[in-house]
Amino acid sequence: MELKWKGKYSKNKKPNPATKKIGKNGLPKPLEAKCFQCKKKFLINYVVFSKGYGKKNNWEYWTNPKSWDPEFWKDKEARKKDKKICGTCLSELFYDKERFWETIKDPRRRNKLRGYVYTGIIE
Ligand SMILES: [Zn+2]
Repeated sequence: MELKWKGKYSKNKKPNPATKKIGKNGLPKPLEAKCFQCKKKFLINYVVFSKGYGKKNNWEYWTNPKSWDPEFWKDKEARKKDKKICGTCLSELFYDKERFWETIKDPRRRNKLRGYVYTGIIE
């Protein structure tokens, strides 16, 4: 019975002030995620210019060719299947060349990961 009002909220999509995930700086709070590789918890920051959470910790982003399509990220089922990977595991993957070439097929994504590691975005 108590669940009834929750359903109401999710239907009309009005944000519930009690669960609003806005931090002190007025931006959505970092998202807590768990790495599927090392099982450690880490935070995914909100990226202002892309008006959403960064995709670099999404496994599908690196491995799924469909992830170039913004529609892909609107697909609930696709998002459900997505796994999260932390920066440490991503950089480990990058330095493990054989696995890197094996896992990330898209050259543009390879370049991107290389850039992220070299500029320290992923440490
Ligand atoms: Zn990890």
